[in-house]
Amino acid sequence: MNAFTPPSKSQGSDIAVSFEFFPPKSEEMEDKLWESIAKLEPLNPHFVSVTYGAGGSTRDRTHRTVRRIVEETGLAPAAHLTCVEATRAEVDEVIREYWDAGVRHIVALRGDPPSGIGGAYLPHAGGYANAAELTAGIKAIGDFEVSVGCYPEVHPESASAEADLDWLKAKIDAGATRAITQFFFEPDTYLRYLDRVRAAGIDIPIVPGVMLQPNFKGLKRMAGLCGTSVPGWLNDLYDGIEDDVRTRELVTAHVAAELVCKLRDQGVDQFHFYTLNRAGLAQSACALLGVKPDPVPAAA
Ligand code: FAD
Repeated sequence: MNAFTPPSKSQGSDIAVSFEFFPPKSEEMEDKLWESIAKLEPLNPHFVSVTYGAGGSTRDRTHRTVRRIVEETGLAPAAHLTCVEATRAEVDEVIREYWDAGVRHIVALRGDPPSGIGGAYLPHAGGYANAAELTAGIKAIGDFEVSVGCYPEVHPESASAEADLDWLKAKIDAGATRAITQFFFEPDTYLRYLDRVRAAGIDIPIVPGVMLQPNFKGLKRMAGLCGTSVPGWLNDLYDGIEDDVRTRELVTAHVAAELVCKLRDQGVDQFHFYTLNRAGLAQSACALLGVKPDPVPAAA
């Protein structure tokens, strides 16, 4: 891995960042989430998104979290929504509830099988079969902004890289206006994918999804399931620091910073951070991009 170099371009306000959170399971986790949101809000993110658990398991928690963001912050929330284990009528009801709550941005996803990532996906009878159908369903209900997922290393269920791009096109034809990538570690993985996407005539923003997970064991497991390559240098970096949380966090911040700075140098100006509800690592990566809180006005 190269030594860290800050971006050579002018830093600052031309970068748009967004943050992903997951809905908390306990009161303690809820406190941590709101602390993180309060710390990241001054960075003026473009939007903050809230995930939707497998099989709709977090439906109420996702909804509560998104509602609270609308009611208690100045942030623009994006609610994740999946097709899993629900009829169209049930999903449509969730979409209408979001509209009524003032939410105007949905991240539309097919979702993973309830048996877990890697299991066979069977659409619910009477449900939306995939993210393209869901996107069309959302747009039929309200004029939401719709973001979708995309896969620089190809979705594990995809027949080929070309088929994967056809799938992305179908989501755009249905109304999606932004795609957020699955996490990846090498800048070239994203840049090569972007070349393929643009060559296929797709012109919507393809926002790199940057993972901030200091638990390397968990990260490797997740990467294996998602089809994300884990480079040898990353294994080497975490080797021997398994029991040292603080050092793992510093390494994670460094790896994310290096990735975003290299992409920034190639003209990438939007980043989506998978925060895992921890503000610190996202703050570090943003500071290195020149994204910092607005200065507090001096007292008169
Ligand atoms: P789709 O776009 O519908 O399909 C994904 C790919 O699968 C296609 O590109 C295609 O290659 C292949 N495929 C699907 N169906 C078929 C078919 N019938 N025939 C051939 N090929 C097919 N999951 C959650 O449960 N909750 C979340 O909150 C969540 N957030 C996410 C956020 C982001 C940014 C991303 C990238 C993923 C997220 N996921 C989430 C994971 C996502 O649900 C999985 O990656 C899922 O396996 C695919 O979802 P999709 O919306 O990309 O599906």
